Amino acid sequence: MSFVDWIYPKVCAGCEKEGEYICDECRGKLNPPVSICPECNRPSIDGWVHARCQRRYGIDRLIVGLPYHGAVQKCLKNVKYKSSWEVINFLHEVWEQKAEFMIHDLRSMNINALVTAVPMWGMKERKRGFNQAERLGKLIASEMGLPYLDVLERVRDTRAMWGLDHKQRIQNVVGAFSLNSQFSVLNFQKIKLVLLVDDVWTTGATMRMCAGVLIRGGAKKVWGIALSR
Ligand SMILES: [Zn+2]
Ligand SMILES: [Zn+2]
Repeated sequence: MSFVDWIYPKVCAGCEKEGEYICDECRGKLNPPVSICPECNRPSIDGWVHARCQRRYGIDRLIVGLPYHGAVQKCLKNVKYKSSWEVINFLHEVWEQKAEFMIHDLRSMNINALVTAVPMWGMKERKRGFNQAERLGKLIASEMGLPYLDVLERVRDTRAMWGLDHKQRIQNVVGAFSLNSQFSVLNFQKIKLVLLVDDVWTTGATMRMCAGVLIRGGAKKVWGIALSR
Protein backbone atom coordinates (compact mmCIF):
# COMPACT_ATOMS: atom_id res chain seq x y z
CA MET A 1 0.00 0.00 0.00
CA SER A 2 1.45 3.36 -1.01
CA PHE A 3 1.33 6.50 1.10
CA VAL A 4 -1.30 8.02 -1.23
CA ASP A 5 -3.48 4.90 -0.89
CA TRP A 6 -3.22 5.24 2.85
CA ILE A 7 -4.48 8.83 2.86
CA TYR A 8 -7.04 8.36 0.08
CA PRO A 9 -7.97 4.69 0.05
CA LYS A 10 -9.14 3.48 -3.34
CA VAL A 11 -12.86 2.90 -3.46
CA CYS A 12 -14.66 0.74 -6.04
CA ALA A 13 -16.58 2.94 -8.50
CA GLY A 14 -19.23 0.22 -8.67
CA CYS A 15 -19.99 -0.71 -5.07
CA GLU A 16 -17.82 1.66 -2.97
CA LYS A 17 -15.93 -1.20 -1.35
CA GLU A 18 -12.41 -0.14 -0.39
CA GLY A 19 -9.38 -1.56 -2.17
CA GLU A 20 -9.50 -1.05 -5.93
CA TYR A 21 -10.86 1.45 -8.48
CA ILE A 22 -13.20 -1.36 -9.57
CA CYS A 23 -13.32 -4.44 -7.34
CA ASP A 24 -13.04 -8.01 -8.68
CA GLU A 25 -16.74 -8.63 -8.29
CA CYS A 26 -17.80 -5.48 -10.17
CA ARG A 27 -15.11 -6.13 -12.80
CA GLY A 28 -16.61 -9.57 -13.38
CA LYS A 29 -19.95 -7.93 -14.15
CA LEU A 30 -18.53 -5.65 -16.85
CA ASN A 31 -19.72 -7.24 -20.08
CA PRO A 32 -17.95 -6.05 -23.22
CA PRO A 33 -20.44 -4.18 -25.42
CA VAL A 34 -21.78 -5.81 -28.58
CA SER A 35 -19.33 -5.37 -31.47
CA ILE A 36 -20.55 -2.81 -33.97
CA CYS A 37 -19.71 -1.57 -37.45
CA PRO A 38 -17.67 1.68 -37.10
CA GLU A 39 -19.62 3.34 -39.92
CA CYS A 40 -23.28 2.62 -39.10
CA ASN A 41 -23.07 1.65 -35.38
CA ARG A 42 -25.14 -1.50 -35.97
CA PRO A 43 -24.01 -4.91 -34.69
CA SER A 44 -21.27 -6.51 -36.75
CA ILE A 45 -19.06 -9.56 -36.22
CA ASP A 46 -15.84 -8.69 -34.39
CA GLY A 47 -16.37 -4.99 -35.14
CA TRP A 48 -15.65 -5.21 -38.88
CA VAL A 49 -17.19 -2.59 -41.14
CA HIS A 50 -20.14 -4.05 -43.10
CA ALA A 51 -19.39 -4.56 -46.79
CA ARG A 52 -22.19 -2.13 -47.64
CA CYS A 53 -20.84 0.50 -45.24
CA GLN A 54 -17.23 0.56 -46.50
CA ARG A 55 -16.02 4.01 -47.46
CA ARG A 56 -12.74 5.06 -49.00
CA TYR A 57 -11.92 7.27 -46.03
CA GLY A 58 -13.65 5.20 -43.39
CA ILE A 59 -12.68 2.99 -40.45
CA ASP A 60 -12.27 -0.73 -41.16
CA ARG A 61 -12.77 -2.14 -37.71
CA LEU A 62 -13.71 -1.03 -34.24
CA ILE A 63 -12.38 -2.67 -31.10
CA VAL A 64 -14.05 -1.83 -27.79
CA GLY A 65 -13.54 -3.57 -24.47
CA LEU A 66 -15.72 -2.00 -21.81
CA PRO A 67 -19.29 -0.76 -21.43
CA TYR A 68 -19.54 3.01 -20.93
CA HIS A 69 -21.79 3.04 -17.91
CA GLY A 70 -21.67 2.32 -14.21
CA ALA A 71 -18.21 1.78 -12.78
CA VAL A 72 -16.30 2.49 -16.01
CA GLN A 73 -18.14 5.74 -16.66
CA LYS A 74 -17.52 6.83 -13.09
CA CYS A 75 -13.81 5.99 -13.32
CA LEU A 76 -13.44 7.94 -16.57
CA LYS A 77 -15.17 10.94 -15.03
CA ASN A 78 -12.77 10.72 -12.10
CA VAL A 79 -9.85 10.77 -14.52
CA LYS A 80 -11.15 14.03 -15.94
CA TYR A 81 -11.35 15.74 -12.60
CA LYS A 82 -8.37 14.22 -10.86
CA SER A 83 -6.07 13.82 -13.88
CA SER A 84 -5.06 10.47 -12.53
CA TRP A 85 -2.67 8.41 -14.63
CA GLU A 86 -3.14 5.57 -12.22
CA VAL A 87 -6.84 5.26 -13.05
CA ILE A 88 -6.01 5.15 -16.76
CA ASN A 89 -3.38 2.46 -16.14
CA PHE A 90 -5.97 0.50 -14.22
CA LEU A 91 -8.68 0.90 -16.89
CA HIS A 92 -6.21 -0.15 -19.57
CA GLU A 93 -5.56 -3.41 -17.69
CA VAL A 94 -9.27 -4.14 -17.34
CA TRP A 95 -9.84 -3.24 -21.01
CA GLU A 96 -7.11 -5.64 -22.04
CA GLN A 97 -8.75 -8.54 -20.23
CA LYS A 98 -12.11 -7.81 -21.82
CA ALA A 99 -10.89 -7.17 -25.38
CA GLU A 100 -8.42 -10.06 -25.19
CA PHE A 101 -9.34 -12.00 -28.30
CA MET A 102 -9.30 -8.94 -30.52
CA ILE A 103 -5.93 -7.92 -29.15
CA HIS A 104 -4.73 -11.45 -29.89
CA ASP A 105 -5.93 -10.94 -33.47
CA LEU A 106 -3.91 -7.78 -33.75
CA ARG A 107 -0.76 -9.35 -32.37
CA SER A 108 -0.98 -12.36 -34.65
CA MET A 109 -1.25 -10.17 -37.77
CA ASN A 110 2.34 -9.12 -37.38
CA ILE A 111 2.15 -6.15 -39.74
CA ASN A 112 3.65 -2.68 -39.57
CA ALA A 113 1.24 -0.65 -37.53
CA LEU A 114 1.42 2.49 -35.49
CA VAL A 115 -0.74 3.76 -32.68
CA THR A 116 -2.08 7.28 -32.38
CA ALA A 117 -4.82 8.99 -30.39
CA VAL A 118 -7.60 11.52 -30.85
CA PRO A 119 -5.93 14.78 -29.83
CA MET A 120 -7.32 17.23 -27.32
CA TRP A 121 -7.51 20.96 -27.78
CA GLY A 122 -4.25 22.46 -26.43
CA MET A 123 -5.89 24.68 -23.81
CA LYS A 124 -7.97 21.86 -22.36
CA GLU A 125 -4.97 19.55 -22.27
CA ARG A 126 -2.83 22.11 -20.46
CA LYS A 127 -5.60 22.65 -17.95
CA ARG A 128 -6.05 18.95 -17.32
CA GLY A 129 -2.38 18.09 -17.50
CA PHE A 130 -2.75 15.22 -19.91
CA ASN A 131 -4.86 13.68 -22.64
CA GLN A 132 -6.28 10.35 -21.50
CA ALA A 133 -6.69 9.07 -25.07
CA GLU A 134 -2.99 9.69 -25.67
CA ARG A 135 -2.10 8.01 -22.39
CA LEU A 136 -4.18 4.98 -23.38
CA GLY A 137 -2.64 4.95 -26.84
CA LYS A 138 0.84 4.88 -25.36
CA LEU A 139 -0.05 2.02 -23.03
CA ILE A 140 -1.56 0.01 -25.88
CA ALA A 141 1.45 0.72 -28.11
CA SER A 142 4.00 -0.34 -25.53
CA GLU A 143 2.01 -3.44 -24.66
CA MET A 144 1.92 -4.48 -28.31
CA GLY A 145 5.45 -3.43 -29.12
CA LEU A 146 4.23 -0.84 -31.64
CA PRO A 147 5.36 2.76 -32.05
CA TYR A 148 3.15 5.56 -30.72
CA LEU A 149 3.10 8.82 -32.66
CA ASP A 150 1.04 12.00 -32.35
CA VAL A 151 -0.10 12.01 -35.95
CA LEU A 152 -3.08 14.32 -35.55
CA GLU A 153 -3.66 17.72 -34.09
CA ARG A 154 -6.78 19.61 -33.20
CA VAL A 155 -6.92 22.83 -35.14
CA ARG A 156 -9.84 24.26 -33.22
CA ASP A 157 -11.82 23.61 -30.09
CA THR A 158 -15.08 21.67 -30.22
CA ARG A 159 -18.10 21.69 -27.93
CA ALA A 160 -18.74 18.84 -25.57
CA MET A 161 -20.80 16.25 -27.44
CA TRP A 162 -23.40 15.83 -24.68
CA GLY A 163 -26.88 16.78 -25.73
CA LEU A 164 -26.01 17.20 -29.41
CA ASP A 165 -27.99 15.25 -32.01
CA HIS A 166 -26.33 13.22 -34.76
CA LYS A 167 -26.12 16.08 -37.27
CA GLN A 168 -24.85 18.54 -34.67
CA ARG A 169 -22.17 16.08 -33.60
CA ILE A 170 -20.85 15.87 -37.14
CA GLN A 171 -20.94 19.65 -37.59
CA ASN A 172 -19.11 20.00 -34.29
CA VAL A 173 -16.06 18.07 -35.49
CA VAL A 174 -15.90 18.99 -39.20
CA GLY A 175 -12.52 20.56 -39.89
CA ALA A 176 -11.44 20.23 -36.26
CA PHE A 177 -8.46 17.96 -37.00
CA SER A 178 -5.46 17.94 -39.28
CA LEU A 179 -2.27 16.00 -39.77
CA ASN A 180 0.44 17.09 -37.37
CA SER A 181 2.76 19.47 -39.22
CA GLN A 182 5.75 17.34 -38.27
CA PHE A 183 4.18 14.31 -39.86
CA SER A 184 4.24 13.85 -43.63
CA VAL A 185 2.81 11.34 -46.10
CA LEU A 186 6.26 9.74 -46.23
CA ASN A 187 5.87 8.58 -42.66
CA PHE A 188 3.00 6.36 -43.74
CA GLN A 189 4.95 4.57 -46.48
CA LYS A 190 5.78 1.43 -44.56
CA ILE A 191 2.80 1.57 -42.23
CA LYS A 192 -0.01 -0.79 -43.18
CA LEU A 193 -2.38 0.01 -40.34
CA VAL A 194 -3.04 2.92 -38.02
CA LEU A 195 -4.69 2.18 -34.69
CA LEU A 196 -6.63 5.24 -33.63
CA VAL A 197 -7.35 5.35 -29.89
CA ASP A 198 -10.00 7.21 -27.90
CA ASP A 199 -11.51 6.73 -24.45
CA VAL A 200 -15.22 6.70 -25.33
CA TRP A 201 -17.11 5.84 -28.53
CA THR A 202 -20.53 7.49 -28.63
CA THR A 203 -21.63 7.96 -32.25
CA GLY A 204 -18.12 7.72 -33.63
CA ALA A 205 -18.32 11.15 -35.32
CA THR A 206 -14.95 12.25 -33.87
CA MET A 207 -13.12 9.03 -34.72
CA ARG A 208 -14.55 8.95 -38.25
CA MET A 209 -13.43 12.53 -38.79
CA CYS A 210 -9.92 11.67 -37.55
CA ALA A 211 -9.77 8.54 -39.72
CA GLY A 212 -10.68 10.64 -42.76
CA VAL A 213 -7.77 12.99 -42.05
CA LEU A 214 -5.39 10.05 -41.58
CA ILE A 215 -6.38 8.31 -44.81
CA ARG A 216 -6.38 11.52 -46.88
CA GLY A 217 -2.92 12.08 -45.38
CA GLY A 218 -1.66 8.74 -46.68
CA ALA A 219 -2.65 6.10 -44.11
CA LYS A 220 -3.76 2.86 -45.77
CA LYS A 221 -6.07 1.37 -43.15
CA VAL A 222 -7.44 2.69 -39.90
CA TRP A 223 -8.89 0.68 -37.03
CA GLY A 224 -10.59 2.40 -34.14
CA ILE A 225 -9.78 1.35 -30.61
CA ALA A 226 -12.02 2.67 -27.87
CA LEU A 227 -11.73 1.89 -24.21
CA SER A 228 -15.50 1.95 -23.79
CA ARG A 229 -18.81 2.35 -25.57
ZN1 LIG B 1 -17.26 -3.16 -6.52
ZN1 LIG C 1 -22.38 -0.85 -41.12
